[in-house]
Amino acid sequence: AIKVGDMVYAWTLEDQIAQKAECGGAVTGLLKYALTNKMVDAVLAVQKGQDIYDAVPTVVTDPKELVGTAGSLHCGTLLIAKVVQKFQKGSPDKKLAVTVKGCDLMALHELAKRKGVNLSNLLLIGVNCGGTVSPVKARSMIRDVYQVDPNTVHKEEIDKGQFIIEYEGGHKGISIDELEESGYGRRSNCRRCLYKVPREADLACGNWGVIGDKAGKATFVEVCSDKGADLLQKAVKSGVIATTPADPKGIEIRKKVEGAMIKLGQKWRKKDFTALRSDLWNTIADETSRCIKCYSCIENCPVCMPVAGNGTETKSLMVEQGALPPSPMFHMRRFAHISDSCVNCGQCEELCAMDIPLALFSHAIRSEADLAFEPKLGRPDYSN
Ligand code: FAD
Repeated sequence: AIKVGDMVYAWTLEDQIAQKAECGGAVTGLLKYALTNKMVDAVLAVQKGQDIYDAVPTVVTDPKELVGTAGSLHCGTLLIAKVVQKFQKGSPDKKLAVTVKGCDLMALHELAKRKGVNLSNLLLIGVNCGGTVSPVKARSMIRDVYQVDPNTVHKEEIDKGQFIIEYEGGHKGISIDELEESGYGRRSNCRRCLYKVPREADLACGNWGVIGDKAGKATFVEVCSDKGADLLQKAVKSGVIATTPADPKGIEIRKKVEGAMIKLGQKWRKKDFTALRSDLWNTIADETSRCIKCYSCIENCPVCMPVAGNGTETKSLMVEQGALPPSPMFHMRRFAHISDSCVNCGQCEELCAMDIPLALFSHAIRSEADLAFEPKLGRPDYSN
């Protein structure tokens, strides 16, 4: 029997999914099994929209449509937690399966602590995540560094530390380290992320550690909960998913890669946070002086809940109306307001119309506090 802690190579036995999937198609195969067999009422996953820079969160209720959500979109910088919150607001009793990256999962846990989502109605299929690339940066990186028209790129992937593009006329890969040294590559909040394998989901799925003849053709699945074990077991029994125990060498490699990625995240934290040390106040004042008070940072934050009376609503008495830029205290108050729960998802910075490095400031503040508090940022509160 499959149990918590098991690590397997898994793959779909459905050709259509296998062709479109990123690795073994286990994620899409499992989601399809859960929906077909009414373990859930709907699936929330991510689908390619206009092009590879356009990742669209999609709620699927017809199992046949799930194949459209297979594959990884590395320029998909969205956060799924708020979509889950909206879904549950409209359908509080429906069971939902969701594909989650580390930041999605952390935001869900923070929302659950505030009764903003009901985790018991969720089936969480985690995907390992080494980071995402902003669609705007990706376009300029492909044009300037790869010397390729970004509109001709029809596929991208991250493999063995390279960001690889396929375009009309060929393919090209450049190491992410090299891209990041020249100011491109992953979003800065992703560089600082230390949550690479989402073990607080029901299953944690990825490609690290798949070696031998299954390399590229299977998904590495770590079973993280009884719910996850039950889903995998039933899907295998019904013949839609096949598994084999993970190669012990592969498990070692996965551990090493995860460790190296966490170390890299710590290196970026050190670099980014020490750079702030010399003149924190003036840096914040200077950067936020571009603010046009569009309130996108508040609206898109998964953990900032603007409610009348708590000072974060857009018509706060503490914010002078019609004045631009706002006093730097406008942002300082917001950082303070979310400092108990900022999960470094980066949405505030990603969606800032004026490119203010907001995630950097709030992450720097929150990370310091996180050293002293339990439960850690974005992790479940087991005391409940
Ligand atoms: P599939 O059956 O192809 O299903 C993929 C699932 O991911 C689908 O449900 C799809 O909707 C969802 N998805 C696609 N893009 C996004 C997105 N941007 N945000 C949220 N969900 C999305 N694995 C590693 O081992 N190491 C890594 O460094 C790593 N980095 C990743 C970075 C990103 C941005 C993503 C999305 C995934 C990453 N993965 C990584 C996981 C890996 O790419 C596969 O998703 C995983 O191995 C499952 O493979 P599969 O064939 O079973 O998935």
